[in-house]
Amino acid sequence: MQSRRLFGTNGIRGLVNHDLTTEFITKIGGAIGTFFQGGRIVVGHDGRTSSPMLVQAFTGSLTSTGCTVYNVGLAPTPAIQYAIKHNKMNGGVIITASHNPPEYNGIKVIADDGIELPREQETKIENVFFDDKIRRAKWDNIGRICQLPGILSTYKEAIKKHVDVTTIQKRRFHVVVDAGNGVGSLTAPYMLREMGCRVTTINANIDGTFPSRPSEPKPENLGELALTIKAINADIGVAYDGDADRSIFVDERGEIYWGDRTFALIEKHFLRNKTREIIVTPVSSSSLIKEIADKYGSKVVWTKVGSIIVSHMMKKVNAKLGGEENGGVFYAPHQPVRDGAMTTALILDIMAKTEKKLSKLLAELPIYHIEKDKVKCPNEFKERVLKELIKKVKNMNIDTTDGVKIWFTGKSSILIRPSGTEPIYRFYAEGKTRSKAVHLVNEYKTKLHEIINECKSS
Ligand code: MG
Repeated sequence: MQSRRLFGTNGIRGLVNHDLTTEFITKIGGAIGTFFQGGRIVVGHDGRTSSPMLVQAFTGSLTSTGCTVYNVGLAPTPAIQYAIKHNKMNGGVIITASHNPPEYNGIKVIADDGIELPREQETKIENVFFDDKIRRAKWDNIGRICQLPGILSTYKEAIKKHVDVTTIQKRRFHVVVDAGNGVGSLTAPYMLREMGCRVTTINANIDGTFPSRPSEPKPENLGELALTIKAINADIGVAYDGDADRSIFVDERGEIYWGDRTFALIEKHFLRNKTREIIVTPVSSSSLIKEIADKYGSKVVWTKVGSIIVSHMMKKVNAKLGGEENGGVFYAPHQPVRDGAMTTALILDIMAKTEKKLSKLLAELPIYHIEKDKVKCPNEFKERVLKELIKKVKNMNIDTTDGVKIWFTGKSSILIRPSGTEPIYRFYAEGKTRSKAVHLVNEYKTKLHEIINECKSS
């Protein structure tokens, strides 16, 4: 971890008992408690082997600063975020490393509006941490530790209010839920049964070693889900990441879709009969999002990559819908944070109202072929490489919101951006044909390799 910087794009992440020791947790817990000035703080966690240990250390430290801790135990990240806002708490802490490998864990700090803290507030916590300005309470002002029961049912009920449950019930959908051994198994299967669905679960036992598949719901990890759908003739499948804020969908034929395609389906049905809405999405999303927004007289606000950035931009521009290519959908009438169960309910709502299969609904969207890849690049060269790349393409139609996105005629584009967490550059290309997208990735991978080699040798 760099000096004076602890928070990354999604909170604090690190290796358990290496970066995230109980000593570190005690200290950061004190800094977070100092930041919240003795407020009412919700604490919850995912199903990782290290989460209970970290919660214990955290809880002790938070109460030492005078905060009252409301323990909600195991729960999906969006359910905890909803509980914070719904119960008018001052904030919350979620112990989770989302989709990272099992040896990792992390800390998400949530404000009273249910959204992760913006960067400037994270800096305040980092300052308390590094300047040793933790304020411990007097012995007679130490915070209490309470339980906050029932948050999962409140969360499920809240989601159901935003969809037409009666119409969904009539369709008797057969849904396969792949919880990926994460906490998504605590909510979505029950909510879907309450909505009249027949639910088959796979990998629904919470297990912090993630024995069934990697926790990230990428298409290459979802073969078992696709096979199960076909084997039992289900209508749809959905896979969640470890903390169930992201969801990836599979149609009745076993075809797996990237998140921006299902997001576009939600966007299309959301925008029907509406104009002048604002859709927020990172530059890594497909142009499909813009094509649909244009069609309905609405506008897209492109952001840097990062779910916290999308949430805060939605709040700023008063947008009701946002989404990411990785399967995050933000539906502000419920809450402006990504939410796997809410997304699932929205997709079923569309299937029920249109009486169409998922494959048909997705085939009706304009076609874009997407190709993703990555190239290794040492962290110390990332900035110089980006500068050199921008120099080479500056006369083209570019957007430098995050990395560099180049737009070409014929609705193709490529985004080349340094990863915020790994020593790599990521490529997201799209075109109206697969060969165009593949060609763009190969062309720019070669260009980037040349620039990286020049940086290394100079
Ligand atoms: Mg997640």
